[in-house]
Order: sequence, then C-alpha cells, then structure tokens
Amino acid sequence: MRPSLLNPLFTELTRLGGVGPKIEKHYARLLGRADAPRIVDLLFHLPTGTIDRRARPKLRDVVPGTVVTVAVTVERHRPPPPRRPNAPYQVYTSDGSGDLTLTFFSARTDYLEKLLPVGALRYVSGTAELYDHMLQMVHPDRVVDEVGFAVLPLLEPVYPLTEGLSLNQIRKTVEAALARLPVLPEWQDSTWLQREGYPSFGDALRALHRPPEPAEMEPGSKAWTRLAYDELLAGQLALAMVRVHLRRPSGRATPGTGELRQKLVETLPYSLTSSQSRAVAEIVADVAKPERMLRLLQGDVGSGKTVVALLAAATSVESGRQAALMAPTEILARQHYNNIVRVAASAGIEVAILTGRERGRERSDLLERLARGEVHILVGTHALFQDDVAFHDLALAIVDEQHRFGVHQRLALAKKGETVDVLVMTATPIPRTLVLTYFGDMDISELREKPAGRQPIDTRTIALDRLDEVMEGVGRALGEGRRAYWVCPLVEESEYVDMAAAEDRFATLKQRFGNTVDLVHGKMKSAAKDRAMERFSAGETRLLVATTVIEVGVDVPEATIMVIEHADRFGLAQLHQLRGRIGRGAGRSTCLLLYGSPLGETAKARLAIMRDTEDGFRIAEEDLRLRGEGDVLGTRQSGLPGFRIARLELHGKLINTARDDAQLILNRDPNLTSPRGEALRHLLYLFERDEAIRLLRAG
Ligand code: ADP
Ligand code: MG
Repeated sequence: MRPSLLNPLFTELTRLGGVGPKIEKHYARLLGRADAPRIVDLLFHLPTGTIDRRARPKLRDVVPGTVVTVAVTVERHRPPPPRRPNAPYQVYTSDGSGDLTLTFFSARTDYLEKLLPVGALRYVSGTAELYDHMLQMVHPDRVVDEVGFAVLPLLEPVYPLTEGLSLNQIRKTVEAALARLPVLPEWQDSTWLQREGYPSFGDALRALHRPPEPAEMEPGSKAWTRLAYDELLAGQLALAMVRVHLRRPSGRATPGTGELRQKLVETLPYSLTSSQSRAVAEIVADVAKPERMLRLLQGDVGSGKTVVALLAAATSVESGRQAALMAPTEILARQHYNNIVRVAASAGIEVAILTGRERGRERSDLLERLARGEVHILVGTHALFQDDVAFHDLALAIVDEQHRFGVHQRLALAKKGETVDVLVMTATPIPRTLVLTYFGDMDISELREKPAGRQPIDTRTIALDRLDEVMEGVGRALGEGRRAYWVCPLVEESEYVDMAAAEDRFATLKQRFGNTVDLVHGKMKSAAKDRAMERFSAGETRLLVATTVIEVGVDVPEATIMVIEHADRFGLAQLHQLRGRIGRGAGRSTCLLLYGSPLGETAKARLAIMRDTEDGFRIAEEDLRLRGEGDVLGTRQSGLPGFRIARLELHGKLINTARDDAQLILNRDPNLTSPRGEALRHLLYLFERDEAIRLLRAG
C-alpha cells in the first residue's frame, strides 16, 4: 500500500480549482498520461526557462525589446474611434522621466477602465518596444496595483505547453499543487546532502517551480540534480531489489555435458565467431552455478544471436531440463522455430511452438507433451505466460528483443519454473549507461563482430523525386533474380495523405512487376503475414512491400536490396534495425534511403550517419545525442518507464553512484524496515517503482 503521506500527491488534478474535465484532457496530453493526470505528474513537469521581470528601469532608461517592470501613473484613455472599432485601445501613462503607451487590441472598455483608472499608480510588466519613436507595450503581461506588486513573482517559470493550456493556467495549477506538497521524511543520506548543499525534496521542487534565480532552475542546478538523483536512486534500488530477489541461490545448477552442443556445432553450416563462442562459454559457466543467471546478450543485427540461444538451450536439455525462447512477435517466433527446429532435430532435441494461434486439440496435446518433458525447447510469443502453460522442469528462459517486454513479463516467465535462469537478447545496441539504467548490473555478453564473409552494405540517400529511377533499378535487380524489401512508413493513406502507404505502393509495384511482388503489414492477420513471409523466404516472391513489421529479427539471407521510403521519418535505431535485414548472406547488398525534399539540417545529418557507418553502437550513440534516450530503446512503444526528471546526458554519471548506493542500502537493510528504509519506500512510490516493494513482501 502506498504510504498515506503521499496521498495528496496522487490525487487527481481535477481536485484542484480551475481544472475541469476539459482542461484535464489537455493536462493528460501535456503530461503524457493515458488516464487521469495527478498532482505528482504536474509537479514533475519542470519548467524549461524563466521570464525575468526584475529589470525595473525608469521609462527614460528602458531598453526597447526587453522585458521590464515599470511603475507608471495612468494619464488618459483613448478608446478606438467609433468608425474604426478595430483600431487599438490605447492608455497613456508616464513616470516623470518619460511616457509609455499601453496598447490593447479588441479589449473591453469597462475592463480597462477598472484595470487602469486615470490618476492611479500601476505596476506594468511586459516587453517594451519603440513604435513611431514612442515607447509602447502591447498587451502587458501583468498590470497590478501596489498590493498586487508586493506578491508579484518577478521570475516566472516557463513550461512546455500543449494546445488548450496557457502558461497562466499551468502556473496557477502548479501553485495550487505546490500548496498540497506534504513534508516527507528524508530518504537521502543527510551528511551527503549537507556536503553537496542539496535541498530537501520539497524545497527542490519549490525552487524549480518558483526559482529565486534563473540559474537555480536549470537541469544542472542543485535542486534539479537532487531530484534527478532521487529518480535514479529509485530506479537502481528497484532493480537491485529485483536482482537480489531473483539471484537468491537455489542449489540448482545446470552444468550440461556438452554432448548436444557439440553435435549442434558440427551440424551448423558455418563455424561460430569467436564472440559467439565466448558468449556460449559465459552462459554455460553461469548456468552451472547454483545462483540464478541474469545475463544480457547484446549483439548488433545480424551478429548471430539465435544460434547462441540454441546452444544455451541445449545445455538445459543436456541436464534433462527444458528451455523457453520468447519473441515479441508471431513472425519472429515462427522464424526462430523454423531456424532452430531442423538443426535441433539433428541432435535429437524436440522443439515446439506456442503462439496465440495454436488452439484446441493441437494446443492441449502440446501442453501435455510439455508437462511430460517431451518438448525440450518451447518457442513462442507472450502466449508462453498463460497460466495453463506448465513445464516439466524449466531451467532457462530466453527473451529475445527484450526491450519490448516489461519487468513484469520477465518475472512472469521466470516464475514458470523453480529458479529459472534468464537470458535476454537485444539487437538494439544499448549504450552502457542505458543498460545500467534499465536492466541494472546484469552480466553482459556482447557479440561485437559479424559472422565472416559478410560484405558491407552499400547505403545511398536519394530524393523521392527520383522514385522512377529507383523502380527501374529494382526492376533490373529482380530481373537478375535478386530479392528486395520495400519499406513504407504507414499503412493507411487516410492518416497522412502525403505518405506513401504500403497498400498503394504495393498496387503500383505489382502493376509494374506482377506476381513476384507481395505485401506484409501489421494489420494483416497473422496467418496471412506468415504465408507472405514464407513465400518470400522460399523465393516464390521476390519483392516484399512491408511496413516496419520486418524491423525486428526477420532473417532471409537471400534478400540483398532494401528500399526505405521516407527514411527521414524513421528513427536512426529503427533504420539500423531495418537495414539489418539485408547484408546477411554472402551477396553484395544495397540499401536505398529515399527522403522527401527539402531535407532539414538535422535530418540530413542523421541520414549521413546511416550512410557512413554500419556500426550499431555508433548509430545508437548518435541517436541518443540527437533524439534523447526514450527513442533509442523505443520506450514510447514499449511502455518502459523513461525519465521524467533526470537528463541522461547530464546526470548519467550519477547512475553508478546510485547503483552503489542502492547496493549499500540493501546490504544494511534488505527489507527496508529501518527509518531510512521506510523513507525510501516513499521514494519508490513517488517514482512508481513500487513493483519492487511487492517482491519484498513475497519474501
Ligand atoms: P541476429 O543477431 O540479428 O538475431 P541471427 O541470429 O538472425 O542474427 O543471424 C543472422 C544470420 O547469420 C542467420 O542467417 C544465421 O544463420 C547467420 N549466422 C549466425 N552465426 C553465423 C556464423 N558464425 N557464421 C556465418 N553465419 C552465421
Ligand atoms: Mg534475432
């Protein structure tokens, strides 16, 4: 249960004055929440800058074009003449040193007469300009009297906005939210706070939303850094808790005999790369230990992770146990199955597949064989999590393309057996800082080299105007018997009229090249998708028009050409994944990145990176630099929590400290029951890492 002190922060924004259902919708969009935004969401929405109203010159000294706050006496009103109702309403003021005209468009007379009575002293704040040699201010931001001035914040935070919300609306709501901020117990080490001069959690939030100095609300400021560290610590603590929980020694070791592995290696039509051999050795050593394995197998696209997975699974089978291999999509699960089943059979290993498609008799037969231990390796999608899927003795869970699954799902699979070893595989080359952030200090095996005999991919960028030439070129290649992918960004033309929709493109290409063209996209039934993939894989069709469903893992080594339409609309990591579908065989491959012109500077730079390198790590790092961390992992699609406050490029170096800190905390207080432990539970809830707390309870 959430500590009750936090309740005010987790109440809905609509409980604050001035936020009705309509405004709430705007806040939901602004704060990126699918359901009702809460006070805590708004408080974590930090300003991006300030408006500084502290300059208070005499009118004579005003620098035109700057924001000033001036004290003036109202002298005269000049409403628009009756025959020109659209002319501005002007109010003349002065301060003895000079004059200032306040200009209002379509303003109400009675409102302005009340706001600026003739003869009264008013404080006016806004941008002063010269117009016809006269100083004027159009629609001042603030007009207040003496009393109002006493409480006027001269530094105003500026927030990212969304349609339907004004700065004033947000500021007012933030103020109301700050008023609800409870005093929370301190969860950080107090000596450390003192030494670094960091404020408390509450003071930090207040300093950022009501900055006393512009520099105090920047991401590098003490207040921001404190909150960033809070967020990082919450993440690392949660990961450490998951890890301690999963790693508990089990007394169950799965050393294997090496016999099946050897048979498999002899059957393979190629020899392993040295990093594949090393990865297999690392995994075998891990599973031979009584503690649970938690290992990340990181390898660029085409580096050959599947065979490593198979050899790892074979180790379980050697010990008379079972392995599961889970993929994020049905296409990918089937492909894994198809790739593995033949090789495995040569060593007498039984492989089966389970997705949403296996039903009825077929499914119940499969489950029976699984429960009896007759199926050695089960490949599938998230259908593997279903309650009635019971293994005879699951030793190893392998999760491919890990970042598409959440922590929940990883744990769910691990629960299918007693102390299951976990191997996660990712094709997205994740920079080290992000690995730490999302997976904690998992052990890592890396496949850094590509299998021998691969030729570099010739990547070119071409303006979409030259589509005709591209089609001609593809036509020539098809004539030579080559196979090609043609990737389009979206399925339905109705959404973005100017985007080349896959169905449309398919029609055009089919008209030109006939039955050798096929189509696969995300909205097709999975059986139809599979058939399309199989036809292409068998060479029955040779030009496959596709959306990004082929992004992940698809393996047809004979395909050597890829055309990507509107490559400028894809993320770099995504382009890299897509391009990784070619260049898998010995044939020379070509990738054509088509872009809509004119192309902006950043877009140009991004496509140039794609042209210049095939190194996924470099591309990932550039992507991180150009787009921020969320997109590298594809977190937006996957629902992985991103960071609300920490900026990895700035606070990333604190992750190591936070990890050590988390370790130390758990060593001293494994169940978080000390006073500091209790305070830390607040922290975990605040940043919604409380999933880990449930693990504590489970023991
Ligand atoms: P990924 O790491 O992207 O999942 P795959 O496991 O799909 O890569 O392997 C890509 C291709 O490389 C497959 O066709 C596979 O058979 C082949 N392959 C894997 N290892 C080697 C190797 N050591 N030598 C040659 N080809 C290999
Ligand atoms: Mg793969």
